[in-house]
Amino acid sequence: MSAPERALARVDLGAVERNCAHLRSLLAEGAELCAVVKANGYGHGDVWCARAALRGGATWLAVATAAEALELRRHGIAARILVQGALTHAEERMALEAGADVVAWREGFVRGLAERAAANGAPARVHVKLDTGMGRLGTTDPAEARAVADLIAADARLELAGLMTHFATADELGDEHFALQLERFHAWVDETRAAHPGAIAHAANSAATFRDRGAHFDLVRCGIAIYGLDPFQRDPSERGLEPALSLESYVAAIKRFEPGQSAGYGRTWSASEPTDVGVVPIGYGDGFRRALSGDADVLVRGRRRPLRGTVSMDNLTIDLGSGGDVEEGDRAVLIGAQGGERILCEEVARRSETINYEVTCALTARVRRAHVEP
Ligand SMILES: *Cc1c(COP(=O)(O)O)cnc(C)c1O
Repeated sequence: MSAPERALARVDLGAVERNCAHLRSLLAEGAELCAVVKANGYGHGDVWCARAALRGGATWLAVATAAEALELRRHGIAARILVQGALTHAEERMALEAGADVVAWREGFVRGLAERAAANGAPARVHVKLDTGMGRLGTTDPAEARAVADLIAADARLELAGLMTHFATADELGDEHFALQLERFHAWVDETRAAHPGAIAHAANSAATFRDRGAHFDLVRCGIAIYGLDPFQRDPSERGLEPALSLESYVAAIKRFEPGQSAGYGRTWSASEPTDVGVVPIGYGDGFRRALSGDADVLVRGRRRPLRGTVSMDNLTIDLGSGGDVEEGDRAVLIGAQGGERILCEEVARRSETINYEVTCALTARVRRAHVEP
């Protein structure tokens, strides 16, 4: 094995590929997989993960911003890309330049888009968004959404590519809002597609994909699951997912603490008995959140070592006990497996009172990504 590094996120692209193949195997007849690689592939590396997802059977990609779409194109990715976010005029031009599909829900936006598409020389592909209960982007009025769809379909500079919505509570099993949203979307899609049979319909994120085949329509938009993370914050293996990312550092220094000696800012922890404290040179400057202060474990030599004191920007401290079994230079795993022991991203999320999405997105550019090809 190579020498340890200060802060390394290893991304197993084979896992991303297998997660996509697994998701595809769950899909309703005729539905395709759109891999969501926004926010640098949830911190995993967008271009690398996009390619792995396409190898795993995804046929579409989705991002949040126009710049993200352009970045994929710059790396030669030719697949359909849906830019899901709201767009400023500058972003609209960038999305058109990238040949990406965009989302609309207002007539004014569509009229401006048509003019810019004409200047771009190719029809712009547009997906109309109905807000069925997410309370974010899209119109809540099915009649307005229908009028926008009609306007797009009637304009040669535009193409009505899709009809979409987004769920607010797909990850809350047993919740009734999900069924309500699905029902509203179904009604609108049935009516709109009677007039525009060429438009595809899509609604499901990862949670909805697992939860209800009736939400698959023509395309599912999966993000979190392609990275092997569980949308329900449980153990991903329960749903056949393999976490792709591991985060590691190393033990840079070990020192013997006597009772009363403290570690880190604010002296929030001090030794109650003689023990060895290891310093791991990774911190919130790398995206390992300060909220984990005093509440995380780090694996060294295949055993859980409790984090002590406050996480600082560049370092954290762990209790190695008095066994003397750890040496300076030993590898330290913050997310992932070592020996028979394992720390899931979902555990780190729970202990820092957030969700797995935010744990991997938080990893900063200072953490080197190593993409492991299958
Ligand atoms: C991020 C996003 C997704 C993917 O959601 P996951 O829960 O990560 O699968 C799907 N659709 C939209 C509109 C999104 O913003």
